[in-house]
Amino acid sequence: MSDKIPTRDVTPPVEHHSPDGSVQQGTVQQEMYAKRRHIYVREIKGVFQRLRRASNWLLMLGFFLLPWVPWGDRPAIWFDLPGREFHIFAATFYPQEFMLLSWLLIICAFGLFFITVFAGRVWCGYTCPQSVWTFLFIWLEHRLEGSRNRRIKLDQQALSADKLWRKGAKHSLWLLIALATGVTFVGYFTPIRQLVIDLPTLQAHGWSYFWVGFFLVFTYLNAGWLREQVCIYMCPYARFQSVMFDRDTLIVSYDAARGEPRGARKKSLSHAEAREAGHGDCIDCDLCVQVCPTGIDIRDGLQYECITCAACIDACDSVMDRMGYPRGLVRYTTENALEGKPSRILRPRLMGYLAVLLVMISVFAWAVSDRMPLGFEVERERTQLYQMTRDGRLSNVYVLTVRNLDDQDHRYQLTAEGLPDLAMDTDRIEVPAGATRRAIVQITIDPEVIDLPSHPITLRIEADDHPDIALERDTRFIGEIRR
Ligand code: SF4
Ligand code: SF4
Repeated sequence: MSDKIPTRDVTPPVEHHSPDGSVQQGTVQQEMYAKRRHIYVREIKGVFQRLRRASNWLLMLGFFLLPWVPWGDRPAIWFDLPGREFHIFAATFYPQEFMLLSWLLIICAFGLFFITVFAGRVWCGYTCPQSVWTFLFIWLEHRLEGSRNRRIKLDQQALSADKLWRKGAKHSLWLLIALATGVTFVGYFTPIRQLVIDLPTLQAHGWSYFWVGFFLVFTYLNAGWLREQVCIYMCPYARFQSVMFDRDTLIVSYDAARGEPRGARKKSLSHAEAREAGHGDCIDCDLCVQVCPTGIDIRDGLQYECITCAACIDACDSVMDRMGYPRGLVRYTTENALEGKPSRILRPRLMGYLAVLLVMISVFAWAVSDRMPLGFEVERERTQLYQMTRDGRLSNVYVLTVRNLDDQDHRYQLTAEGLPDLAMDTDRIEVPAGATRRAIVQITIDPEVIDLPSHPITLRIEADDHPDIALERDTRFIGEIRR
């Protein structure tokens, strides 16, 4: 018996045409990995590019400026990991409140889900940091090395003084932006005003240097070199977003019914004349491909590489304007609309997602606004059920844990209720802002008032300066019945 499974070559034969005119059958070996083709993105102006640029600048300004905004004597946004405090403007959160963070992350994920069902990968084209930084790097490249055609020529040229300074200036500026990105990122975790003094004077923490260096390299490589490769091969969202689409999702599409048969024609032909001559509206100018940051041809249909940046829409609209044809050969539309079927953007499924998202946001906003900046736990001392004091009173001991989740120090008043004549050896606990204090408290009572072996009682703490910062915990008082 053979120990190998028999195999046969199923590569389809191809025909080789020899110079003498004869035709031979053969096979082709295909590379498993396609070689990367450098994409020289052509700059284009238009409505969607203005929208995208506005969104990019807004997000970038927010990212770079926020760590500099002061709030009292601290930064307004400061994720203080060693101090275990997370400051966001007036609010300070602590690790105990990580449920809120989880809730926020769920809302973000659901928000992304909703946006994708509504308008495909619009997040990628307009707001994703990878796209935002890549577009900034390409914008700089254009300013320093010139238009698409000049950049192609420059790359083909031998090294010259002109090429050297242009390339040198470009990479220096890229590195400068990458450095600013790294410093800003670390500035969310270490007060940035001090960080920018400590970094050059070598006074900063070792981890600060590590993370600044990491984000410098990461930004420079991702936005300068890898670019569309990140979107196509590295981003998991690109892989699963297609399962969220439906036939009414807004996607950037080429209207093949209107555009085909594509082809060049005399510019003097009017739209009607071109139609009569059997031309579709696509003049096959290739501009939509040249402006595409991922290098695809939208006329090949919906592709997972498309980041919905709409550069091809602006490019094609500018061509349609020049030709005197109606705009919208490439446009945001739905699969149903393209096929001439009824299409509903505001469909029940989308409205359902929106309703769920709004409920989640409302619950989160309520939880944040209603959050009590105080944690209070009570545990009975377990080694002894009860004791008798020298003056003949019954005593129970409790371990109290008080967490001040506010951004200011508080003194709390402690009271006990549930039985007459309860007395405590401690009635005040001071806890600095953000700190946790454990206190051992003895509660005593006249044994004559006990008529059950275990009585429910309530312990309450209340901030002296803020009566609304208060919490109660139920526990039990244990003793022996004397009556
Ligand atoms: S830009 Fe418009 S006209 Fe030009 S090739 Fe693309 S789809 Fe055709
Ligand atoms: S196909 Fe159009 S929308 Fe998609 S990435 Fe390319 S230019 Fe942007």
